[in-house]
This record gives sequence, structure tokens and C-alpha cells, in this order.
Amino acid sequence: MNNKHFECLICGRRYESQPSTEGLCPMCGGTVIIQYNYDNLRSAIGKEIFISRQDSMWRYGELLPIPIEYSVSIGEGWTPLHRAIRLSEVLVRNLLIKNETLNPTGSFLDRGASVVIGYAKMRRFSSVHTDIPGNLAASLAAYAARAGMKCVVHVREVFDQAKIYQILSYGAELQLSSAADFHEGYYIGPANPYVLEGVKTIAFEIAEQLSWRVPDWVIIPAGNGGLLISLWKGFWELRELNLVNSMPKFAITQLSSCNPIVKAIGGEKSSRCISTIAKDIAIPKPLHLRAAVKVLKDRGVATSVTEEEIISSMKLLARYEGILAEPAAAAALAGLKKLIENGVMDQGDEVVIVITGSGLKDPSTIVKSFSEYSITGLLSAKNTRLGKTKLLILKLLANSPHHGYELMKLLQIELGSKITTTTVYQHLKELENMGLIELAGVSRIGGKYRKLYKLTRRGELILKAFSEE
Ligand SMILES: [Zn+2]
Repeated sequence: MNNKHFECLICGRRYESQPSTEGLCPMCGGTVIIQYNYDNLRSAIGKEIFISRQDSMWRYGELLPIPIEYSVSIGEGWTPLHRAIRLSEVLVRNLLIKNETLNPTGSFLDRGASVVIGYAKMRRFSSVHTDIPGNLAASLAAYAARAGMKCVVHVREVFDQAKIYQILSYGAELQLSSAADFHEGYYIGPANPYVLEGVKTIAFEIAEQLSWRVPDWVIIPAGNGGLLISLWKGFWELRELNLVNSMPKFAITQLSSCNPIVKAIGGEKSSRCISTIAKDIAIPKPLHLRAAVKVLKDRGVATSVTEEEIISSMKLLARYEGILAEPAAAAALAGLKKLIENGVMDQGDEVVIVITGSGLKDPSTIVKSFSEYSITGLLSAKNTRLGKTKLLILKLLANSPHHGYELMKLLQIELGSKITTTTVYQHLKELENMGLIELAGVSRIGGKYRKLYKLTRRGELILKAFSEE
């Protein structure tokens, strides 16, 4: 292994080993990256050497911080970079997709997990723990399982349910504790420099897959900013080693309801952070904020997109290119559309968009986004169990929106029995949770505000399915 050291991207301090548990600079809180002896490496590696090795991110072993014999692998990396033939017709002429959904757990973070779990193995840790219950935890859980290591995930708030189940499937342990109070094993947070090192191999692969050329633009989603720092570092190293002769420009996309990096570039402070569909990138205080701003001010742009724009990009990717992306990943495509509209990107630019995670990780968003399509609606309708009262409520709401009290009166007429307001509201709550009815508005009756309910598109489909039976 080549000599390496740790270096803060903000204050420039050097450290011989990882300087803090979370991985940030203890002096200034800045992003810390691992640096190698590039003078030595220049003569030791070359394009031909990489090409002669197997198709894996570990073919760049000299540029990774652990010896390859410690690597923990389940087939991460070396994902395809392919021309987006159909999307190129409607967006930019030269659009390429780096499809990271094909990693073992469906996320680009498998690259980071492969390196960091390998590092924990080398250090003879028998367990690892993390407090980021999203894609990183899922990757760590899988790679810890592969290495025969215990993995603990600290959970303090409600996160995406599907991701929690994915984490549990790999045998990780969930704990309602804080990472700071837990003193067992190696802690892996989103700023861990070994994770960043694994992720940077995306840049190496893009350059090699383009025959050692860099694209004009690389577009990615951003939460903490770790992917941006990793990609910047990867391309920077290739240039430092004379393997490529330029750097791409970077475009990051954030949610318009949570865009602290976008705001920081404009000199503003972020005030709020709300997200219902892309929690992995809804980070109010990004750990790599200063480093990300530095990179983007030098060579990049930042843009924000709404959740509706993300959902429409999910559909576009799936229907034009056959790639089902999770919302955070589809945000990059929504960002590209916006940059084209704003004239930031030229029609002739070569653009690589990194699709970071699979839509299969987030079935609830897929159900919400695609339930308007009748076949799906009708198929799921067959499995929906509805009692007589609920069905009657749906029929009544199909005619016109009603509030709870009105429904109670109508149900009493139809069923000829006493039905209480409490029971009606319980049914309404359950139907709302099933996605069959939704709020149509609020009306003021007799000095009281009453919620009006109406059928959703899914509710209509299900009522239709039941009526046809
Ligand atoms: Zn520093």
C-alpha cells in the first residue's frame, strides 16, 4: 500500500490517522479526505494495468485505502454507463446514465460499504454501528453480514419503512439509542473518509468507460454532499495522475423544500426542511456544506426541484430508459430538466447523470405515484378487504364530497341503524390510510369547521372493481 494521510479540505490540516470518530476535522469541522503519494503512484499505475484487471471497482486498488485482501465484496461497482438513447431525443443530445441501481443493495453506497467494512475487518473490529437509517445503513448491514460482523443501526425518528425492513433483512440490529452513547465497535457516519473513498470509484469508472475522457457535466442528487465530494476527489485524482487532462463540471440537485447547499451558494441560510418522499437527501445541515460550496463555486451549479418534478422524472426514467429510480435518485434528472430550461446546459454538452438508488427500495412511493393506472389499481383492488359500511361510504362519496356528520346521517338512512360519529370517523381514518379517500376541503357549518372528504383515483378504481364483481 502507498503512503497515505488524511487532509482537511477546508483548513488544510494533515492527520496521520482518521482524526475524529465522525470523520470531520476536529479543528474546523471541515470535510476530511484521504490523500495518497501521487508522485509514487504515477509510475506504479496506468490505464493498461487497470484494463487488464477484472471488471470491478477493486481494479483501482492502489487508489483505495485498504489492501485488496481485506476488501469485502458482493459484486459492488463496475455498473454500466450507457447512452440514454430515448431521453437524449427530448433532453440533451449526449446524455449518459451511470446506473448505480444495479449495486447489490440497490445503492451507490455499496461501494463505500465495501471499503469501510473492509477497513473494520482489517482493524479486527467484530462490530460496526451507524446512525443514518437510510441507504448507507442498508449497505453497511449487507456488507457486515458478508464479513460476519455485527451491525447496529441507531434509530431516533421515523424513517422510510421499507429501508428499515431492508436493514433488518440483512440481520442488523436496530436500537433506539444515540451513537454518542454507544461504545462498541467502529462507528460509521456519512462523513466517514473510507466511505467517500469507495464512492469515488464512480468517477474512475465514468472516465474509463468513456475511454479515459471526462464528460462536460456530471449531475447528481445532494443531501450531505458526500457524493459530490467523492466524485470531485475521484476526477481530481485522475487528473493528478495524468490519466485524464481535465475535470467535469458538477450539477447538484436538492429538494426545493430542503436546499441548504443551494441557499449557501446564494449566500442565504436555510430555514426549513420538509420532505415526504426523498428523506435520504433531505438534510437540514449538510456535513460537507463548506466543501460542497467550495467545489461548486469553482466548477458547478446547484438547483432545486419540487417533489412533483421528482415523481415526473421517476416516470420519465422508467418509461424512456427502463430504469426504476428511487425519488432521491430521480431528483438528478429533474435537476437536468431545470438546467436545460434555464439555459445552463448546452444541447451539445456531454452529460452523465448518476442514478444513485433503485426504486425497488421505496415501494410506497411507487404505489402513490403510479396508482392512477387502472391495471395496478384493479389488481390491488382484488386484494383489498372492504366491509359493508366502508363500501357504502365510498359509494356516498362517489356522488359528492361529504363531511363526517353528513355521512353519519346518510348511513343511518341507508343502514337503518344507529351508527355513532366515532365509528364513522374511525372508518374515514382507515379509508384515508388505505389511500381511498382524501381531504376535499374544509367547510364551516354552524360555527364549526368540518373536513370534507372525497374519493381518490384509487378509491374510484376500487369502488368500480367492487361494483363489477
Ligand atoms: Zn479543518
